[in-house]
Amino acid sequence: MITEKQLYRYARQLVMPEIDEDGQKLLLSSKVVILGAGGLGSSVIANLAAAGIGELIICDNDTIDLSNLNRQFIYREQDVGQPKTLHAQRFVEDINSDVLVKIKQQTINEALLVEILADCDVLVDCTDQFSTRITAAKASFLTKVPHIFGGAVRFDGQIATFMAGIEGYEESACFKCLFTENVKTTQVSNCAQAGIISPITGIIGNLQSLETIKWITKAGKTSINKLTLFDGYSGNFESIRITKKQGCTICSE
Ligand SMILES: [Zn+2]
Repeated sequence: MITEKQLYRYARQLVMPEIDEDGQKLLLSSKVVILGAGGLGSSVIANLAAAGIGELIICDNDTIDLSNLNRQFIYREQDVGQPKTLHAQRFVEDINSDVLVKIKQQTINEALLVEILADCDVLVDCTDQFSTRITAAKASFLTKVPHIFGGAVRFDGQIATFMAGIEGYEESACFKCLFTENVKTTQVSNCAQAGIISPITGIIGNLQSLETIKWITKAGKTSINKLTLFDGYSGNFESIRITKKQGCTICSE
């Protein structure tokens, strides 16, 4: 059921015929896991909380550092030194009481993520660790949950939705089809060393949020089998077609 207050609160999105009241009900009854509450995570958490996702499960083992605040805008100066998940939860609760927030302030391994994803609709991957992305790819494949991946460093961003293992999307690639250990060192540069500015994590996090809302409401086309690259320095987007890799150790049976 959707209340009168909710009809008004979400009026600007449910007036869109692609979303409608039915789409809003789907959002309010959905569960989304957000892996990483950093720069991408801040954007995703803010968007999905405002949109009225019924349950957000926020996973991060880190604490807030002063140097995070140039882009991790859900945190305040007074939160420095505190656990990220705790203050991400506070942020969501302050802006939308419709959203139930659960937090995992711990290191995520495959078994734990499989358990968390068991009854969830989407995994939004906002981590900056290659090994955690591989864990996300494995757990998503095993639980048949879409893996919405984003990455951002310096002026560059990238996003892809991996649907490997999901019924009807058997030909979709997984994260590992695209990124093998061989490219590990070039694919992920550390934000602390290479740098990052807020609009880049914001743009990619916004696109991840859009993918999430589209998948849940079935509005529009999700970006399947496509890696979208954003070059913030020139302002250009580019999409590369991606394919399932034969012999992939995660998604090829
Ligand atoms: Zn694969």
